[in-house]
Amino acid sequence: MIQASGLRKSYGRTVALDGVDLHVRPGEIFGVLGQSGAGKSTLLRCVNLLERPDSGTVTVAGQDLTALGGRELNRARTRIGMIHQHFALLSSRTVAGNVAFPLEVMGVPRAERERRTAELLDLVGLGGRGGDRPGQLSGGQKQRVGIARALAGNPDVLLSDEATSALDPGTTESILGLLRRLNGELGLTILLITHEMNVVKSVCDSVAIMAAGRVLESGTIADLIRTPGSRLTREIFPLPDPAPGDVTITFTGRADEPVISEVVRKFDVDVNILGGAIENLSAGSVGRLRVGLTGAERSGALDYLAGRGLLVEVAA
Ligand code: ADP
Ligand code: MG
Repeated sequence: MIQASGLRKSYGRTVALDGVDLHVRPGEIFGVLGQSGAGKSTLLRCVNLLERPDSGTVTVAGQDLTALGGRELNRARTRIGMIHQHFALLSSRTVAGNVAFPLEVMGVPRAERERRTAELLDLVGLGGRGGDRPGQLSGGQKQRVGIARALAGNPDVLLSDEATSALDPGTTESILGLLRRLNGELGLTILLITHEMNVVKSVCDSVAIMAAGRVLESGTIADLIRTPGSRLTREIFPLPDPAPGDVTITFTGRADEPVISEVVRKFDVDVNILGGAIENLSAGSVGRLRVGLTGAERSGALDYLAGRGLLVEVAA
């Protein structure tokens, strides 16, 4: 749905994007995770061509946006919605007036505009609040208005720049739940950028980890969890650095099988648990366990664990 290739963008001597490739599949929630200054916002602005990359191409829904200009680009942009950290609502307009704004710009007739605005407010759980001013709403409600406005043009894609960063944890969960519901009900593809791992864990299907204008790692969360040495897995499970020979085991899905007691019964080994955790991700539950594993049949035990479908990593 979104394909970015070789994006570069500099501001003076600051290289904000240093050759970024991104592939977002239709209907997925794709997270771009990185610290402040990594280039995430620049990437998002290049995806809808609010910012023109110095080089590289951006294709959204099969259309090469980098080849378009003027009116054609504006028309293509109506198929891309965007929401912001600080909501960017017009305080002089009512809630309904904010949601209707893009419809006015598109020249939608008044009766149709009012019908569509009411429908959008219902969709985001703000039915009946159309006459309020943004100042009367909580942060979470303001973001719901932002989402309704972003959906006005019936977009294929929703871009989110730190949309939950100004919200408390409970409100963050409710907004992420709304995004997940819209993703399911409307088949909406969502590209969201965040500096919070929790956002990635609770809602994303895929992720790209960015630092210093580059993508360090990207893919579906399910695939990355099964990839040895994955940065994502290390960031989700912050275990201390392993000592040489320590074994780190990653379980996906079936954490209910007693593999550790099996391996101790079947092989002449001792297992010493050094650390671990289980995380519930939107992609399913994942466990990670760090153990010391000693004894005459260590290598047989390691093979057995790997044969049971676990990811087994032995520290050098
Ligand atoms: P992030 O969203 O990950 O925090 P940004 O994309 O905002 O990162 O910024 C990446 C780098 O580009 C930073 O060093 C930032 O200072 C710089 N930058 C971003 N936008 C501009 C701009 N309009 N003018 C100058 N420098 C910018
Ligand atoms: Mg930013």
